[in-house]
Amino acid sequence: MEKSVDTMEKVVSLCKRRGFVFQGSEIYGGLKGTWDFGPLGVALNNNIKREWWKMFVESREDMYGVDAAILMNAKVWEASGHTGAGFCDPLVEDTETGERFRADHLLKDAGVDAEGMTLEEIDAAIADHRLVSPKGNPLSPARQFNLMFESRIGATSGAEGKVYLRPETAQGMFVNFKNVLDSMSPKIPFGLAQVGKAFRNEIAPREFVFRVREFEQMEIEYFVKEADWETEFDKLRTDIQTWHRHLGLADENIREYEVPKNDLAHYSKRTIDFEYNYPGKGFDELAGFAYRTDHDLKNHMQHSGVSMEYIEPDGTRYIPHVLEPSFGVGRAFMAVLCEAYTEDEMGGEARTYLKLPVHLAPYRVAVSPLLKNKPQLVEKARDVFAMLKKEFGNVAWDDNGNVGKRYRRQDEIGTPHCIVIDFETLGEEKPELADTVTVRDRDTGEQERVAIGELIGYLK
Ligand code: ATP
Repeated sequence: MEKSVDTMEKVVSLCKRRGFVFQGSEIYGGLKGTWDFGPLGVALNNNIKREWWKMFVESREDMYGVDAAILMNAKVWEASGHTGAGFCDPLVEDTETGERFRADHLLKDAGVDAEGMTLEEIDAAIADHRLVSPKGNPLSPARQFNLMFESRIGATSGAEGKVYLRPETAQGMFVNFKNVLDSMSPKIPFGLAQVGKAFRNEIAPREFVFRVREFEQMEIEYFVKEADWETEFDKLRTDIQTWHRHLGLADENIREYEVPKNDLAHYSKRTIDFEYNYPGKGFDELAGFAYRTDHDLKNHMQHSGVSMEYIEPDGTRYIPHVLEPSFGVGRAFMAVLCEAYTEDEMGGEARTYLKLPVHLAPYRVAVSPLLKNKPQLVEKARDVFAMLKKEFGNVAWDDNGNVGKRYRRQDEIGTPHCIVIDFETLGEEKPELADTVTVRDRDTGEQERVAIGELIGYLK
């Protein structure tokens, strides 16, 4: 279904109103590029990460999880190239206000692709297009701005004390490649997977959780023989497509952008950006998938002096090549919410609901007594709640307002089913309905009578 252009604003406001996402450090005026996840946001995020881990690690024999430290020896980032120009964005300043902008983004808005341009070419393009800052003032010449956050470790001063907050989880896997080989004896092809925080000092954080300074990634480094990279690339590409369907994202809202050869990083032979059609924004990166040759392991071998070779049973030694699927949790979170956000009419009233897949919904089901001042109803509802809570964990107790209001509230946070315990459950009016409850479906609003003993099976 085509979403209206203001869907994003509506999603952002729903996120705040319903406890999904709050501005970071809000009571102190916020901190740009940071967002805090509230109770329902954590639940949705955890569900995304859990499903990802299940699909890419637990359900497979060829994947191994790791969880490396966020702080790493600074030499890691020298070896990976992150301390150099490769991890910089071109920055220009408003010469009057000092505000900073990404030169490539300003050029993109003017229809110029700045990918691969030198600083001189960027300055020339800005001059050609007579670009000024969004405030109308002249722009400074472009300079490279490194995106890594720096800090110091312990009481050491000088260069030895320097550390960086990791700008990607990937390097934590490369530096543990040898450890996993030695401890787990994996057979090629195999992958390492990691989920965790990454930090980038983005020049212009924007668009809700799309571009932030602190975010989470779910990444895989998949090690293959050079000769097999194309076959393995195709297989992982299909797995990524399956993942996006599992998130409930419609095929027509996903686009696979084949990065042109001349825009590829020098070590990459092929890169596909998986883009999502964010309402009002259009297609933009959701996840990346790159064939990185043996670039990373080779560099770490050179810089650390530790062998990164894989040894075949017949004694052949080689440095494996790597395929890297890289997913941003926040971008998946945003895509899932935009896709799920639906407005319709039910019972002659406009309603908003999140059509979330069952495995992603913050609450699997909500339970309520028809009336909260009738102890018998409450007691029975509490029993049903306890039974379901034990089974599913994420079950909501909702006795605020009348039943209609509860349904609307649960619809808005995407709860797939609501259960109401009423007088019929108590067997007071129709004995044949004793110990049955009303189960209401979020998407259709239809209600069914289900025996308490069959509820778990029904919901599963
Ligand atoms: P972009 O071009 O949008 O800056 P990128 O190509 O630099 O992204 P990668 O380095 O490939 O991104 O990172 C892998 C994934 O991590 C991205 O596909 C995205 O989902 C996520 N990601 C990267 N930077 C950010 C950020 N600043 N905020 C939120 N997610 C991010």
